[in-house]
Amino acid sequence: MDIQQRIEAALKTKEPKRIKARLFALGFFNKCGKCDGKGVIDGFGHIANGVCFSCGGSKGRVARMTRELVLELEAKVATGALEAYLAHNKAVAEAKRAIAPLKLTIDKEWQYGAVHTAFSKKRDIDQTSALFLAATRINKLRDVANEKAQSGKSTAAEAVEVLTQTLAAIRAENDGFTS
Ligand SMILES: [Zn+2]
Repeated sequence: MDIQQRIEAALKTKEPKRIKARLFALGFFNKCGKCDGKGVIDGFGHIANGVCFSCGGSKGRVARMTRELVLELEAKVATGALEAYLAHNKAVAEAKRAIAPLKLTIDKEWQYGAVHTAFSKKRDIDQTSALFLAATRINKLRDVANEKAQSGKSTAAEAVEVLTQTLAAIRAENDGFTS
């Protein structure tokens, strides 16, 4: 087998995009010197989310695969690193599917519920009023939901649990609110 075929066999795919993603995931790429292969620069989160200006967040370039590197790749895959990466991707996709409908319900409850309906009708709001305080609490709850839905670090079950609790808390605020 030539080098390309061995790479494809080790990574179990012939699709160029997937080969690139899998090589990157397993660390077979030349790191961008500016961000050290992270794609973001620490401490610059306030500018374009910290995305590295040098590599545009791509982390670097695919390494030119030599026979030695292919041997290293095959050894790495033999340790189960590829399976771990694929399992992680699957878990993230599952979490996304579980989160999406719940997040939509939360957004609607937040936007069209009693608290924000009343809030949007007011011009000047006393910051000590029950309405203002309820809106503050409800916004904080939605921040929690947004963070949980976006982090991509939690399992589907964890995210669903937090989002379900958050939805119930937002509903309780709306149900308990009388203007
Ligand atoms: Zn970079």
